[in-house]
Amino acid sequence: MQALERGEGPYVGRFAPSPTGNLHLGSLVAAVGSFVDARHHSGRWLVRMEDLDTPRVVPGSASAILRTLEAFGLTWDGEVEYQSRRLERYVSALEALRARGLTFECSCTRRELGANTERGYPGTCRSGPRHPGPTATRFRVPDERTVEFVDRFQGACRFDLAAAGDVIIRRRDGIFAYQLAVVVDDADQGITDVVRGADLLPSTAWQIALQEALGLPTPRYGHLPVVVEPDGSKLAKSRRSVPVDPANPAEGLIQALTLLRQTPPPALAGEPPAVVLDWAIRNWRPDRLQGVLETPLPVV
Ligand code: GLU
Repeated sequence: MQALERGEGPYVGRFAPSPTGNLHLGSLVAAVGSFVDARHHSGRWLVRMEDLDTPRVVPGSASAILRTLEAFGLTWDGEVEYQSRRLERYVSALEALRARGLTFECSCTRRELGANTERGYPGTCRSGPRHPGPTATRFRVPDERTVEFVDRFQGACRFDLAAAGDVIIRRRDGIFAYQLAVVVDDADQGITDVVRGADLLPSTAWQIALQEALGLPTPRYGHLPVVVEPDGSKLAKSRRSVPVDPANPAEGLIQALTLLRQTPPPALAGEPPAVVLDWAIRNWRPDRLQGVLETPLPVV
């Protein structure tokens, strides 16, 4: 595990939910993991609403998420940041990349790309859009580029960026893509430590390449295991859509901590959330997450 000693320097962590629904167990695990890790290192913990994907944003869910975090005792520092208020920052980042010849316009539709979307972009529009009409903007990934980093929990990671392909940074509908916005925001908010779900591990390679292209610092990364079904299969949709219950915060925290391989004493069950979190902060054992990409729910 990458050494991260207490008091090594300022620590600024964050939780960056997308307000596309209520907080569910998977996102509670990410919130608890990043919060406890930040507080264990005497760090700050910020909340950022990733509300750029307006067609998917559910009205009222941003405030519902914040109320739920409060109910679980996950109190953040400073003001909540909203990506929708920061569009001009993404415009200037995109312009900076464009000025360096690191972007191109792409007219490919999802249908044209077909199965290719999973295997990376084949480079179709690299020398210009193939047909008229709306275009997305892609980040031109160098032809031979691997990105290597040491993840605090997952260890040495290596991604073939060229195979992942030229990532979309502004969609055809004009919406700035997550990969660009997250890099700009993490830098602007002075984030030193990104702790989030391992589903975003492959995205980290693009984010590091974008940070380099924009001259931005690379934070430390720590990817937490993703919650899966007891048999190891992907969490069922029915379960993913179940909101966590803010009426029983200690229970939810204990469940999240257990999924994070911590061992909260059962006696904490009746305590207020601050007591459970205080135990978790003092007894945080991130070494137990070493190489753990998935955390299955218990069989009931
Ligand atoms: N908004 C993303 C999500 O809810 C998280 C992004 C991140 O932590 O970098 O999955």
